[in-house]
Amino acid sequence: MKDLYNPNTANYPRLKTDVCFADYDNEYTYTSTLGDAFRFVRLNQLTSRAHWKRFCDQFRYNTDNDTGWRGEFWGKMMRGACFCYSYFKDKELYDVLTETVKDMMTTADSFGRISSYPRDREFNAWDLWCRKYVLLGMQYYLEICEDDSLKEEIIASMCRQLDYIMTYIGQGKKEITKASCHWRGLNSASILEPTVRLYTLTKNESYLSFAKYIVDKGFTDVQNLIDLAFEDGLSPYQYPVTKAYEMTSCFEGLLEYYRITGEEKYKKAIIRFADKVLETDFTVIGCSGCTHELFDHSTVRQANTTNGAKMQETCVTVTLMKFFYQVHLLTGDVKYADAFETSLYNAYLGSFNTEKVIEPQITNTHPTWTMEALPFDSYSPLTSGTRGNGVGGLQYMPDNHYYGCCACIASAGIGLAPKMQFLTTHDGYTLNIYENGTIKTDFGKIEINGNYLIDGKVSVTVNVNEPKKFSLKLRNPSWSKKTALKLNGSPLTINDGYMTVTKEWQNGDKLELEFDMTIRVTRPIPYGEQVLMNEVVWSENYIVPVYDKEDENAKYHLALRRGALMLGLDDRTGKSPDTAVSLKLEKETVTEYSLTTAPYPHILALELTQTDGTKLTLTDYASTGKRWDIGNKTAVWLKTK
Ligand SMILES: [Zn+2]
Repeated sequence: MKDLYNPNTANYPRLKTDVCFADYDNEYTYTSTLGDAFRFVRLNQLTSRAHWKRFCDQFRYNTDNDTGWRGEFWGKMMRGACFCYSYFKDKELYDVLTETVKDMMTTADSFGRISSYPRDREFNAWDLWCRKYVLLGMQYYLEICEDDSLKEEIIASMCRQLDYIMTYIGQGKKEITKASCHWRGLNSASILEPTVRLYTLTKNESYLSFAKYIVDKGFTDVQNLIDLAFEDGLSPYQYPVTKAYEMTSCFEGLLEYYRITGEEKYKKAIIRFADKVLETDFTVIGCSGCTHELFDHSTVRQANTTNGAKMQETCVTVTLMKFFYQVHLLTGDVKYADAFETSLYNAYLGSFNTEKVIEPQITNTHPTWTMEALPFDSYSPLTSGTRGNGVGGLQYMPDNHYYGCCACIASAGIGLAPKMQFLTTHDGYTLNIYENGTIKTDFGKIEINGNYLIDGKVSVTVNVNEPKKFSLKLRNPSWSKKTALKLNGSPLTINDGYMTVTKEWQNGDKLELEFDMTIRVTRPIPYGEQVLMNEVVWSENYIVPVYDKEDENAKYHLALRRGALMLGLDDRTGKSPDTAVSLKLEKETVTEYSLTTAPYPHILALELTQTDGTKLTLTDYASTGKRWDIGNKTAVWLKTK
């Protein structure tokens, strides 16, 4: 089954539709930031047998009889765990995942149904959404599974699950968009992705018909969102339903559907949707949504001080990373790799609960629950605020434990990093991320050394088992306005986007890159003419058209980027983000600064000179605010007045 996902095999189905491919045989070792992040996730989440057992039990005992979403936990975490396995390739993780996938199959009832909802309440609320995650979790496990008979068992289980669903959902039955009381059916329609993937595995035509049925419905019962994206008029925040990661998940399913059908309309709709998100709903840290978990014109409203505490959801960050990775595979366009990197090093790493804080909401409101720190936070502040503003998608489970949506999905973020880092193309390879470490691949290995996040200098050594001709594309990030590249000491021509080096590679060929690490100012985008958007009143799906609201204070903020990192102000440096900074700027860049240290773990710390001669310490935004309490404010949008 693994062959289906390996570009080195001739029957790889994506060869016709995609530009880049992740090679599942590659092996990665990271020696810096992302290596630490991987080990954190492995230790604090993925190898915990208690978690896996608990998440399976939600299906065994149908605990979502209160229309909950406990059933999403297993599949979300399984997907991330399988991605991470492709990095670790360690036996313990493999054994844990194999045990839990077998355990999950034992929760099927006599109909073959695996659902966290009892039968008399099925096909409502989050039931299909949760079943989608079970199917996806099993499908991603298949990519790492070494046991052929177990693979057959899993595929048979998935077929029984989907066959049961198709008995009750479809044309002339209960409509997919009516199989949920939320988001006009958007969450249920996202079952498109595993449906198409199961068709790819089995070639069972009824699954393709079911996929077509979902695509023809256009994801909601109020409007066809595929048509809206294809027509390219409205932006996602102006759609009648705006729930960000459910919608993105549907478009990921559409991308799988396009790969099977080759229908150009769908490719255009996917790319237009991705580009509208980047244009109108992508913040400086690489997430969407300033009001709860919705597309809401956040590119423009991100410096508003009126946005509230629940914003920039980690589920949205991770889903966007996965979606941009997929659109990058489809198009090879560097802008999606740039976006992925922004999300990875800023919003995503920021969500890691490295201080193991127990969410204040839990200690205050549910003191009798079993106290356990979740490995990830759910929301990220942009203007002055704190982390730790509630467990997104909080669910209590009968054994007195709790978990949340963001905590479960987040392992997929780090698991995607090696996939995105080094991709196979039709005539060679693409290197997208310059994290230190080694990539073992079919021709030999690539070694990356340097200090990409700190001084922008990176060396890439190509080790080949025997001389081999291929093109190596090196990403030139859009933030680097002046890049230098040398091959074995000789300067090469620089291009925007990708710098392609085509040659017969010899063992030990060395590329040296130097990126532009100028600290650049970003200012809020003026609102200009008021823009109509849809406001969705939480949980009732009641849609009210309103005008986007500008905050008078927004314009007195600025954000600073240095390389891949956004800079943040943490009050542990002695300066509160509630007070104004007064930076010495030259042509919207910071010229007077030096490397320093800060009183908390960080990737980068800088001391900047202010106009009155005083010093201001900033670190990478992802490392700020990690105490999650009111005494530890952070901001990426710095107040200037
Ligand atoms: Zn979430």
